[in-house]
Order: sequence, then C-alpha cells, then structure tokens
Amino acid sequence: MPEERVKKLLSLLEKAYPDAALVLQYKNPLELLFATILAAQCTDERVNKVTEVLFKKYKSAKDYATAGQDVFEQEIHSTGFYKNKARNIIACGKELVERFGGRVPDTMEDLVTLPGVGRKTASVLMGNVFGKPAMAVDTHVFRVSHRLELAKANDPDKVEQELCKIIPREKWTRSCLVLGTHGRHTCVARKPHCNVCVVEKLCNSPDKIFPA
Ligand code: SF4
Repeated sequence: MPEERVKKLLSLLEKAYPDAALVLQYKNPLELLFATILAAQCTDERVNKVTEVLFKKYKSAKDYATAGQDVFEQEIHSTGFYKNKARNIIACGKELVERFGGRVPDTMEDLVTLPGVGRKTASVLMGNVFGKPAMAVDTHVFRVSHRLELAKANDPDKVEQELCKIIPREKWTRSCLVLGTHGRHTCVARKPHCNVCVVEKLCNSPDKIFPA
C-alpha cells in the first residue's frame, strides 16, 4: 500500500468529516464501556435511547455489579442479544469492583480480561477516553477499509493490525473515527453513495455504484 495513497485518502476523508466523533453518548469511561458493549449488533442511536435512561439509574460499577439480571435484561431489551449483554455487563461490573477498585482500567491488557470486552471495545476506550492511540475496527471501519483496499483480512482483529501498519500511530484513533463516519454516511453497506464520495477517484471497489 503506497504511503502517499493512504495519506491522500485520510486527508480527503478528514476534510469531508471534520466533526467525525463517536455517536455513542457518554460522560465517563464507565458509561462508554457499557454503551460500547450494548452497541454490538445494534445501532448507536438505539443504544443512546436506552442509555439515556439507564445511566440515570446506574452510576457506579457497584450499581451494575448488584443489578438484578431479569430487571437489567428488560432495561436493555431493545438493544438485542439482551441476555448475553446483561450477563456480561453485570459480570463486568463485578470484576471492576473486585479487581480494579470500581474504576475502568486504562490498558489494553486489562481491558480485554473483562467479560464482554474484546479488542474493539477496548480500543474505543483507549482512544477516546484514555488518550492512547488505538484502532477500533467496527463494522463500518471494517467495510470501508476493505473497499478502499486498506485491509484484506476477514477478521476485525487482523484488519486492526493491517491498519496499524499503514497508518501512523498518532493518527490511529482519528482515522477510525473518520473511516467509521464515512461508512455510516456515504460508504454504507448496501448501495453506497459513490456519486458524492470524496475518495471515489481512489476507490476500485467492486461495490462501487454508478450512477448511484
Ligand atoms: S466510491 Fe463508493 S464504494 Fe468506494 S469508498 Fe466511495 S462510497 Fe465507498
């Protein structure tokens, strides 16, 4: 992957989406951790509706650790996969209390030991609340990276490694936000809006649509 091409792609996308930011609403690491777990297989908009209520009731790791499984399932029901998510979030609350004094740890090594937390969730935390460069490969970043030939792997963790190799470390967090925003707004999964895409000239994807 020629360095110049990567630079050009990221610079065009950055100009197109100067306000690129997480869609999930949160006020602290704990809220972002659980919002990100809830966002698996669910839209961020739906998660925001649920957490608007949830975060008023549950404020500390202990609150989650002592939540009742049945009640919690009902509270997060509309985000889907609610049984697993409830189990993981309650278990995660317990681990935070028992192992980390109720705080969310700020290293990748510790974060991925928590129930329901994979590399993507850990990277979202690292990059957005702990100020440590991280490549959070969600479904949008994954799709756009493939279409723009930034990555080839079929596994998000491997795509993360590929992106980390071609993008300078200090740009990891920002690049993910920009690639993800492009995926949400323009390079959508079905029928991408190629006619308004700022990187169309650099795109050789078979998914490209003309006319859109
Ligand atoms: S040209 Fe189309 S497929 Fe390629 S990056 Fe742009 S929106 Fe996506």
